[in-house]
Amino acid sequence: MQYHLNGFKPGNYQIPDSAREPAAIPPMVDLPNEVDVLIVGCGPAGLTMARQLSEFSDITTCIADLESGPLMFGRADGISCRTIEIMEAFNSSEMIVKEAYRLMQNTFWEPDSENPENIKRTHKISDARIGLSEFTHSIVNQARLHELLLEGMKNSVTHLVPHYSRRLVELDVDPAVTQDLNAHPITATFERCDDPQTPKTETVRARFVVGCDGARSTVRKSLSIALEGDSANKAWGVMDLLFVTDFPDIRVKSFIQSKEHGAVMTIPREGGYLVRFYVELGLLGKDQRASDLNLDAEDVIAKAQQIMHPYTLEVKEVAWWSIYEVGQRIAERFDDTPVDNPDDLIPRAFVAGDACHTHSPKGGWGLNTSLPDTFNLGWKVASVLKGTSHPKLLQTYSTERRKVAFQLIEADRQLSKLVATRPTSDNNAPEAKTNTADIEKFMARQNGFVAGTSIEYNPSYICTGEEHQHLASGFMIGQRFHSAEAIRVADGARQHLGHLNKADGRWRLFIFGNQQIPVDTTSAAHQLIQFLATSDDSPVRKYTPEGMDHDSIIDVYAVFQQQDLSITDLPEFLWPAKGKYGLRDYEKVFHADEGNDIFEQRSIDRLSGCVVIVRPDQHIASILPLTAHDELAEFFDEFMLA
Ligand SMILES: Cc1cc2nc3c(=O)[nH]c(=O)nc-3n(C[C@H](O)[C@H](O)[C@H](O)COP(=O)(O)OP(=O)(O)OC[C@H]3O[C@@H](n4cnc5c(N)ncnc54)[C@H](O)[C@@H]3O)c2cc1C
Repeated sequence: MQYHLNGFKPGNYQIPDSAREPAAIPPMVDLPNEVDVLIVGCGPAGLTMARQLSEFSDITTCIADLESGPLMFGRADGISCRTIEIMEAFNSSEMIVKEAYRLMQNTFWEPDSENPENIKRTHKISDARIGLSEFTHSIVNQARLHELLLEGMKNSVTHLVPHYSRRLVELDVDPAVTQDLNAHPITATFERCDDPQTPKTETVRARFVVGCDGARSTVRKSLSIALEGDSANKAWGVMDLLFVTDFPDIRVKSFIQSKEHGAVMTIPREGGYLVRFYVELGLLGKDQRASDLNLDAEDVIAKAQQIMHPYTLEVKEVAWWSIYEVGQRIAERFDDTPVDNPDDLIPRAFVAGDACHTHSPKGGWGLNTSLPDTFNLGWKVASVLKGTSHPKLLQTYSTERRKVAFQLIEADRQLSKLVATRPTSDNNAPEAKTNTADIEKFMARQNGFVAGTSIEYNPSYICTGEEHQHLASGFMIGQRFHSAEAIRVADGARQHLGHLNKADGRWRLFIFGNQQIPVDTTSAAHQLIQFLATSDDSPVRKYTPEGMDHDSIIDVYAVFQQQDLSITDLPEFLWPAKGKYGLRDYEKVFHADEGNDIFEQRSIDRLSGCVVIVRPDQHIASILPLTAHDELAEFFDEFMLA
C-alpha cells in the first residue's frame, strides 16, 4: 500500500490520502465516581491494558489522558515481531501487516577510506530477526497502533472509550484497606484541561490503578517509587520526512557513520515515501535539558545532510520532529508494595511502560516493552477481579517484568556504546565512533531480544515443569508460545496454532499426541482427555463455573501425528456442544502437516507426546507428560479459585 505521496496525513490508512481525516475526538463525558480499574495514560501501555480489560463485561474500567485526543504523529514507529503477535491476540495483526513497512534488510555506511568526507556502503545484510516469528519486524506510525487498540476497545462488549483532557494531579492509596479486595483504596484526583478558564476537578475511586503515564509519571511519584540509573543524558533529533534524495539505500534501514559529523540512522516508513531519521545530538551536561540546546528541525536536517555527504537530501515536508531526551532508568519496584514485598502484600497500584523504564530510542524498544508490560498485567488483574485466580498472582507482574526491564537497560547500554557519541562543549567525554560491524554482531546476538520473541520469565508457580522441557524443546517454558501451523481435522484448513491464543483471559492446553492412535481408549492422549472431561480433579471441571461452556476458563486443543482421523471417533470433549443451542465446536482438533510438521519444528517427542500449558498472555507456563494428570491438576490448584 502506498500513501503520503502528496504530504503526510494521519488517520486510518485504509482510507485514501485524499479522503482521510484524523479520528474524531470523543465528546467530554464526566469521569465515573467508582471503577474496578483506573488506567492513567493512553500510550501503548495504557491502551493495551484497557484493550485487555474491555473484553470483560463484568469489569468496569476508566482510562484517562491529559492530551485532548488520540495521538496522531510521531514517537515510536518500530513494531517488533512479538508486538504484532500480541496484536494478533487482539485480532488486529492483519492491518499492521498490510499497512506497515516490513523490515527485511539493513545497510551499513562508513567514511570512504579513499575519500573520507564521503560515506560509502560497507555491507548490506538480511535483518537478523527474519524467521523468529511468523511476523516480520515492521515500521508504522505509533498512532496507527493506538488507533487499532482504540477501535478494538470501542467495538468490545464494554464499548470502552478514553476520557481525554484529564490531568491526574493527585493519587492516594489508603493503606488501611489495600488487603481487602472488595475495597476501593485508590482515590485519584483529575483536573480537566479542556478549558483553562473554568478549571474543574473530578475524583475517581478505584480497586486498582495502573500508571501508564509515561516517563514523568505522576502515579509513580505519588507512590514514592524511586528511579534508579542515569537521568536524561542524551538528546536525539527525530524526524519523519518527505524528501528527494540520491542516497541509494533510502528504502532500507541504514546505519550511517560519517568521519566528522557523527552518525544517523534512517528507517523507511509505511507508505513508500516517508522516512524516519534518528540523529544523535550528543550528551547533555548535568541538569541540561534537550530544549537548552535550542535546536530546531532545520538544524537537525542540516546535520543529517552533512552526515550523508556526498548524497543530497532535499526536504519537502517535515511530517513530525522532536528532540527526544532519554536516560537509562528503571523503577525500584513496579507496584505499591515494598521492595521484595516481605509481608506478601497484594499490590493495588502498578506502574507500566515508560513510567517504570526509560532508555534510548536506538533499539526501538520503548513501545515494544511498554505494550507487553500491560499484556502481562491485564489478564492477571482481570482474573483476580473475576474471582478465578488468587490475588497473589498480581505479585508476579513486578517480578516478571522487572527482569525484562533490566535486560532492556543492559541491551541499550551495549548498543549505546556501539553508536557514536559526540561530546558537547560542556562535556569532556571521549569521542567514540560507531563500528558498524559491531552493531551487526550485536543485532545478530540479540535478535531474539530485539524481536521480543526470546523474552523469558523466571521459574515460578506459573512457569514451571523444567524437568519435562525435553518433551518439546522448541516450546521454551517461560517464553511465548512460538506459533507453527497444523491442519484442522474437521475441514482440512491450515491454522497457526499460536493464533488460537487470544487475549480473552483463558488458559490453553495443547495436547500433542504420541504414536498411539488417539481413538484407542487406552492411549495416553485419550486417557488424558477422559481425565479432563470426567475426573473430579480435572482443572477444567473444577474451575469452570456451573452453566458455562467447558472451554470458558481452560481451552483445550489436541494435535495428533496421525492424519487419518475422523472427529466423531474422538472423545466428545474435543468437539464439545457449546452456546445456547449446544452447537458443536469443530475447531479444536488438528493433525501435523506433512512437510511442515509442528512436531519436527518444535522438537516435540514423537514417542511420548506431551501437554503444553499456555498462559493467557501466550507465555508457556509448563510442559507435562500426557500421563501427568496429578501434576496438571496441581499446577492449576496452586493459584486458581473454584
Ligand atoms: C516525544 C517522544 C518521542 C519519542 N520518540 C521515540 C522514538 O523516536 N522511537 C522510539 O522507539 N520511542 C520513542 N518514544 C518512546 C515511546 O513512544 C515510548 O517508549 C512509548 O510510547 C511508551 O509507552 P507508554 O504507554 O509507557 O507511555 P507514553 O507513550 O509516554 O504514554 C503516556 C501517556 O500518559 C499521558 N500522561 C502523562 N502524564 C499524565 C497525567 N498526569 N495525567 C493524565 N495523563 C498523563 C501522556 O499524555 C501520554 O499519552 C518517544 C516518546 C516521546 C514522549
